[in-house]
Amino acid sequence: MRRVMAWLLLMAGLLLFGSGCATVHPPRGVPNVERTVLATGYCPCRECCGWRRNWLGRPVYASGPLAGQRKDVGMTASGTRAHKGTIAADTSRYPFGTIFYIPGYGYGRVEDRGGDIKGDHIDLFFESHREALAWGRRYRQVQIWFQ
Ligand SMILES: [Zn+2]
Repeated sequence: MRRVMAWLLLMAGLLLFGSGCATVHPPRGVPNVERTVLATGYCPCRECCGWRRNWLGRPVYASGPLAGQRKDVGMTASGTRAHKGTIAADTSRYPFGTIFYIPGYGYGRVEDRGGDIKGDHIDLFFESHREALAWGRRYRQVQIWFQ
């Protein structure tokens, strides 16, 4: 009985872990649009995401209208945990849920936005600052699926 419980817990853990890191796939039956966009890279670090630590050592917004307020590092504007495949975009143009295929990066989904991400400029999430820097700024012909 105990072994069954352990197995169930393991499976539940795998399911939870799996859904958090699910790879993004293009939706079926939705026509895609081809467009050239500026793609930059970012990671959860304070340099990329504009945060600093307050006197308690807690992350707070460094500037903008939320300056000084608590920042949940690694959480996106749509409430998901940022992971490889998370894209920040101008959501008036590319709403949350829009799927992109970016050559050299793969599939991604719009789950975040940023103060200086406007128009045909998307920001691609990377796990480390080194990877984000290595990507740099690239103009790419991308495939887009609006949901
Ligand atoms: Zn960074």
